[in-house]
Amino acid sequence: MSHDLFSTPEHALFRDTVRKFVEEELRPRAREFDAMGRFDKALYRKMGDLGMLGLRYDPAYGGAGLDWSYTAVMYEELGRADNAGVTMGISVHTDMATPSLAEFGSEALKQQYLVPSIAGECVSAIAVTEPDAGSDVSAIQTRAVRQGDEWVINGSKIYITNAATADWLCLLAVTDPSAGYGGFSQIIVPTDVPGFRYELLDKIGNLGSDTGQLFFDDVRVPVSNTIGEIGRGFQQQMKQFQDERLVACVSTVAGSAQLWEETRRWAEQRRLFGKPLSKMQNTQFKMVELWTQITAARELVRACVAQRVAGTDATQLITMAKLFCGRVSRQVADECIQLHGGYGYMRESVAGRAFVDSRLVSIGGGSDETMMHYLAKMLGF
Ligand SMILES: Cc1cc2nc3c(=O)[nH]c(=O)nc-3n(C[C@H](O)[C@H](O)[C@H](O)COP(=O)(O)OP(=O)(O)OC[C@H]3O[C@@H](n4cnc5c(N)ncnc54)[C@H](O)[C@@H]3O)c2cc1C
Repeated sequence: MSHDLFSTPEHALFRDTVRKFVEEELRPRAREFDAMGRFDKALYRKMGDLGMLGLRYDPAYGGAGLDWSYTAVMYEELGRADNAGVTMGISVHTDMATPSLAEFGSEALKQQYLVPSIAGECVSAIAVTEPDAGSDVSAIQTRAVRQGDEWVINGSKIYITNAATADWLCLLAVTDPSAGYGGFSQIIVPTDVPGFRYELLDKIGNLGSDTGQLFFDDVRVPVSNTIGEIGRGFQQQMKQFQDERLVACVSTVAGSAQLWEETRRWAEQRRLFGKPLSKMQNTQFKMVELWTQITAARELVRACVAQRVAGTDATQLITMAKLFCGRVSRQVADECIQLHGGYGYMRESVAGRAFVDSRLVSIGGGSDETMMHYLAKMLGF
């Protein structure tokens, strides 16, 4: 059953490239990445060579200059890589840490960080969440104090994806505590600077990504490392979150559809009470209900991508999609693990892994409650 979002001949050509990469480089090593607790950094070079790391970015910096529909194609395919952690790590680099740099960064910053990021020569991370501030981004306390031409940074970030892999961070810091929402800045911090260190965290799922706590102890970077205007960091980060959320929706829906297919195959083979599990009405009802949910989620994502391609403000629809896709993926994983019976509870089972991995979608990149908080405001409550 086809569940591809876009299928023009151009999309199909690009889809084949990504699918080949997934089949050859990612799926065979999916469990190895879990055991490593991170992705193989060398593969970023390969993705760079295939043109996968700067799809929407300006060709002047090595990007492909394509519209959002190609990003959707790529993350549909990566969503089928059998490793949600790896997909998340890659998406942090392509669509969560680099969009602000591409849109607001100075020419010098783009040459220094965007060009090698698109080539796969370096990897990025997005550092927003702190031990005492997650959903409430405006409560972050990591401080960047200006001393001459340098920022001196102190503070800590937590649950940061690519913590060990990243060569540079897109850091959100407070640069003027008296300026409210105008007191934050996005600053590029290379991870080899004195005063920076990380500690890895032990997660229950998304094992193929390295997640850690970051520490900044009198870290010094040039003020020219500021992305865009000083004091516009909060607004730029809110914009950057839109790409982050939509990418998460695309790969999540693709992953749910794949799990559904796997579960169908399982139900057709598994026999009990003298017939295949798939012939029981309960199984059929559950499966059609889940497919309806997956289809609805996919159509919502398609509408979001269409708005992004058209250049209209997709914030409200993306916020709804993030809420809806997270819930659908949890429901699909829960029902599919049930249909797998005891095998579903085994670590090697796709359903078992999806059950743990999908739980993150309703937390990371803004939780369900955060989405509802924003939606309530947007809808005038
Ligand atoms: C595996 C993983 C990877 C991550 N990667 C990154 C990363 O790369 N970069 C990064 O910056 N962050 C990252 N995060 C952090 C993630 O974005 C935060 O965990 C998330 O935003 C929630 O923040 P919090 O953990 O502080 O929870 P809190 O904000 O403390 O939330 C606690 C509870 O309050 C609820 N809540 C929130 N708002 C409201 C409201 N208005 N009303 C009622 N209840 C509410 C929440 O939904 C939650 O249930 C990652 C997290 C995980 C687990």
